[in-house]
Amino acid sequence: MRRNYQNIPRYVPHAASGYALNQNESQYPLPERLERAIRDVSLEALSRYPVEELLALKASYADYAGVEPTQLMVGSGSDELLAILSQAILDTEDRVVAPAPDFSMYGIYTQIARGHFTQPDEQGLRYETLTEIIRTTDPKLVLISNPNNPTGKMWTLDELSDIATRVPYLVVDEAYIDFTMKDSFVSRLNEYSNVIILRTLSKAFGLANLRIGFMIASEEIIEQIDRFRSPFNVSGLSAAVANVVLRDESYIQESIQFHTAQREKLTELLRPVGEILPSRANFIYVKTDDSEGWASRFLDKGVHVRAFPDGLRVSAGTDEAYALIRQTIEEVNSVENS
Ligand code: PMP
Repeated sequence: MRRNYQNIPRYVPHAASGYALNQNESQYPLPERLERAIRDVSLEALSRYPVEELLALKASYADYAGVEPTQLMVGSGSDELLAILSQAILDTEDRVVAPAPDFSMYGIYTQIARGHFTQPDEQGLRYETLTEIIRTTDPKLVLISNPNNPTGKMWTLDELSDIATRVPYLVVDEAYIDFTMKDSFVSRLNEYSNVIILRTLSKAFGLANLRIGFMIASEEIIEQIDRFRSPFNVSGLSAAVANVVLRDESYIQESIQFHTAQREKLTELLRPVGEILPSRANFIYVKTDDSEGWASRFLDKGVHVRAFPDGLRVSAGTDEAYALIRQTIEEVNSVENS
């Protein structure tokens, strides 16, 4: 085994019963018309390695994203693309910086690629903190989720553009950008050739099970990073199903409307728990010193949320889950008031 492999944590998934508001998955049910269309996906090519399905998927997604198919790379989730780009960009000991908090996998992929991962100790979501740590660390790669996971914070396009001028490579991870597409860095991609955008079908598109993510970058960067991808890394069945959903005229707008409305409801619901940070994504972050306490009280009712040291991240969910959240909060309030 590699030296220090123990420093790399395992990702062990758990089957959860009840309401999972802890992974930011879509809670919008797939419309029946799409279920029917998906059942029509052909199984004829099952014995062959996938080619056509991936070409078709790239064409559909390029349309959706407003880029050329040659500017795309498809991965088994954006997670795989993070792994591939870290291997492609980093030499041993190269430094990587990310805000804090941010998506937990960034540090893990950096370690796997034998790089050094640094995040600010304090005030890690301030632009000034980030530019200062970039100045002192001199990283080859900066990784930023926008909207930020877990807080929902938005980095402005000007801030991201400025950061792009300070480092060799900037990854803007837009896993949740479908909920606020006007904020996408795609509009500036032509001006900043060292920026790589990551997207996924796991969130607004409600297709986490398919494991499909996209890298969007200049044709030149895609050509370079694509060398580090395994052959046939994405299932053709997944690609074909994704293609059906991508070609639907109204599904993505329906999903966005549903999640936006449910996020607003959730914001009102969670006010008694603590300060709510503004969010345009399909989750909200509520600040509380008692995050573990709240998480376990919600879990007692069958609602999974994600606890962080200074707050909770809760995905927009269904009214049924919200009824249980309301009950929990009312019970706590009645004990406090008695
Ligand atoms: N980036 C961010 C910011 C995420 O929150 C997630 C999923 N939680 C991912 C990437 C990975 O998503 P996937 O591999 O499903 O595309």
